[in-house]
Amino acid sequence: MRILLIEDEFEFADTLRGALEREQFIVDHADRLAMAHEVTRSFSYNLVLLDRTLPDGDGLSIIPALRADNPGLPIIVLSAKGEVLDRVAGLDEGADDYLIKPFALEEMFARIRAIRRRPAELGADEVRVGALLFDLTNEEATVRGVRVDLARRELLVLGSLVKRRGRTVQREALEQAVYGFDDDIQSNTLDSHVSRLRRKLFEAGAEVEIHAIRGVGYLLRALS
Ligand code: CA
Repeated sequence: MRILLIEDEFEFADTLRGALEREQFIVDHADRLAMAHEVTRSFSYNLVLLDRTLPDGDGLSIIPALRADNPGLPIIVLSAKGEVLDRVAGLDEGADDYLIKPFALEEMFARIRAIRRRPAELGADEVRVGALLFDLTNEEATVRGVRVDLARRELLVLGSLVKRRGRTVQREALEQAVYGFDDDIQSNTLDSHVSRLRRKLFEAGAEVEIHAIRGVGYLLRALS
């Protein structure tokens, strides 16, 4: 699960990021709206944590753009503005939840868990390729009702391929989907994730192939 954290207080952002990463989330941090707009054009997220008072505007102003790209994207507003009207404004703009700073990290995790338990309200979308059913919201792969046991990075690779099924996904896009955009990437690790993924999908009887396009990237399609 990949989270976009939009927050301009670096110390606070680092604390949140550290806590989220310990829970196995991949976290990208944007410290202003312009950067958030930019990264959301390149990456797709499963959750956004959104501060309101940012150097280039009110965090709420980015919600329509986030939702235009991904209508089911869960958004939790993080703000020191705890007045009732501010809370109503956040929810009216389409935020799913509102956390008032300061908040306990446990509370944040509880809200994230609660949001993830509501797939129907999030417009859960499932994509079928061959016998593989991929739940984009919960990042879960099943074949004929049986869950395919995949490691986190394998799921991220598969998720990216599934979203663009039948089309080539460039290596760089896959590497960025799997790692935070500022992580170091070993050039051969993507290939090893893909080969494990291929083997697991084959063993699960998914009837799909991950086709390598030399020098470009990979493509997921149903086996005909
Ligand atoms: Ca702020």
